[in-house]
Amino acid sequence: MSQKHANKSGFETRAIHAGYEPDPMTGAVIPPIYATSTYKQDGVGGLRGGYEYSRSANPTRTALEGNIAALEEGERGFAFASGLAAEDTLVRSTCRPGDHAVIPDDAYGGTFRLFDKVEKVWGLEHSPAPVSDVDAVRAAIRPGTTRLVWIETPTNPLLNIGDIEALAGVAHDAGALLVVDNTFASPYLQQPLALGADVVVHSTTKYCGGHSDVVGGALVVRDHDLAEQLTFHQNAMGAVAGPFDSWLVLRGLKTLGVRMDRHCDNAERIVAFLSDHPKVSEVIYPGLPDHPGHDVAARQMKRFGGMVSFRCAGGEEQALAVCERSEVFTLGESLGGVESLIEHPGRMTHASVAGTDLEVPADLVRLSVGIETADDLIADLDRALG
Ligand code: PLP
Repeated sequence: MSQKHANKSGFETRAIHAGYEPDPMTGAVIPPIYATSTYKQDGVGGLRGGYEYSRSANPTRTALEGNIAALEEGERGFAFASGLAAEDTLVRSTCRPGDHAVIPDDAYGGTFRLFDKVEKVWGLEHSPAPVSDVDAVRAAIRPGTTRLVWIETPTNPLLNIGDIEALAGVAHDAGALLVVDNTFASPYLQQPLALGADVVVHSTTKYCGGHSDVVGGALVVRDHDLAEQLTFHQNAMGAVAGPFDSWLVLRGLKTLGVRMDRHCDNAERIVAFLSDHPKVSEVIYPGLPDHPGHDVAARQMKRFGGMVSFRCAGGEEQALAVCERSEVFTLGESLGGVESLIEHPGRMTHASVAGTDLEVPADLVRLSVGIETADDLIADLDRALG
């Protein structure tokens, strides 16, 4: 399928065809894993297809970058060795020492650590603000120095919702870029660039890869100049995705739509079960009508995703016991794979924010609902809750 045709197609067609046309020499339907660091030149500077060294570009990575750009409806995509590598490259490319960023007050712990322990030492200040409160985000902006308004929506692990369109307006009024970490929603459920965001960030480790077998990251932008800037920094900083990792993420993206629909179906079943459970004091899911971000989520997301958090009536002790007793839900960090995972954010993914304003409740349990049989998942939680 021609790329022109693929890029104008529906989401699932793009997921399968965008970024790569069958190899003209062999007809290979799937891009090979180009395990090569360098490329033979036809005379000095005579590059075949533009490839000279695999840090700058590699055909397997190019296929992934084209595919994810098409899924996010952006101008260009960039693939990195991890989500945090993508974030670091973005920050160094768009900010200078002395600048300032607004970040979520419940950001993923690793993102907070990057801003607080790495970018701050380099000279970038940051202020946390709740993504669900547009006025609070506006108030956190420092006129003249804020370069980035950075949000996650839904956030990790409290599933707060930021209004992308409204926050894009707030960022742009201040001359800043709106960055949306779209890891939890995936491009199937939410396309921030179409709502006014300037940059989409992904930990492709999660739903994009989808099989818990690769660590990766991506950026997608819609502005040509910003894309050129990132091209320079991706090569200059060198935190690129390798060819095998790129191939795995590309393979995952082909089934993103069908996987996400099943993640959402199963999450809805589990939310209904937990909502009626006497040992659960609160279920947090943007699909619930009483979730404070429900209306915004319903406007900007296709469905409400596969992440569910809940609080245990029996406090931290019960939360830890549930995590340890479940069997179909595997106790582990990360999310977005086909298998269901359970974790205790306070002691695991978000331990790095303990003792800060970003600390999460001790009775909180986070579920990454997989695509197993829903009845088995419910029976497992029922057993684990005792
Ligand atoms: N953003 C979010 C929302 C995440 O959950 C994570 C990791 O869990 C990251 C970014 C960082 O990605 P990675 O672990 O691929 O570096």
